[in-house]
Amino acid sequence: MTANSPLYIILLGAPGAGKGTQARLLAEKLAIPQVASGDLFRENLNQQTPLGLLAKGYMDRGELVPDDVTIRMVEERLARPDAERGAILDGFPRTIAQAEALEQALAQAGRRVACVPYIKVSEQTLLLRLGGRWICPVCQTTYHVLYSPPKVAGICDKDGSPLYQRPDDTEETARNRLQIYFQQTAPLIAYYRDKGLLVEVDGEQSIEAVHGALVAAITARGAGLAS
Ligand code: ADP
Ligand code: AMP
Repeated sequence: MTANSPLYIILLGAPGAGKGTQARLLAEKLAIPQVASGDLFRENLNQQTPLGLLAKGYMDRGELVPDDVTIRMVEERLARPDAERGAILDGFPRTIAQAEALEQALAQAGRRVACVPYIKVSEQTLLLRLGGRWICPVCQTTYHVLYSPPKVAGICDKDGSPLYQRPDDTEETARNRLQIYFQQTAPLIAYYRDKGLLVEVDGEQSIEAVHGALVAAITARGAGLAS
């Protein structure tokens, strides 16, 4: 891997593990975009596109949106010019079929995934994190009422927008999302371990400590982090 190779990093972990928080920090550090499938679905939903309306029912129930539409949406996003140098993938892939489709699409362009950090967090912590999560609807920055509060309660530090809680972060839907994660997404841990790409990171640490561990893991794999 040379410093100029496109860099694809997949952040694996359950809902609430800190993928979005860490993807934003890494995207800034590596100057490649965060590609978050959940954010893409929410954008589509806000704009009332047919894809957004199709996804809504699944998202409301905490279920996965079908693979075919999800794969198409992410492949289209990765084909945009700002992702020419790679991407931090957050929330995708979530099934083996999605992982295989991604691998194929990258291979067609002579590219491949560089490493797959798995942010490991206990179920109890996941529920506490999801229950206290607040999000900026404009810049998507994520806060936590206890662990990462905004300077002024309910207001985004960056752009002053009123923060909101995701409707699927209610306890019942969050529990359902965790079930679905264990059934459909957790098999990706073994999938990427078998490919020699998985690096386990302790996600129970502070946001800064997890970031440091991720940077160390990515650097150790020689995936271009000169500064
Ligand atoms: P995911 O994208 O994996 O669903 P998020 O990045 O949105 O997770 O994080 C879930 C919630 O937990 C957010 O409210 C976030 O501020 C908080 N959070 C993320 N990482 C940590 C951490 N290391 N320690 C404490 N809280 C965290
Ligand atoms: P997230 O923001 O990653 O928590 O995702 C929110 C919701 O969007 C999920 O509960 C799913 O309904 C849907 N979603 C996001 N990413 C995917 C994916 N890769 N495959 C299927 N559904 C997804």
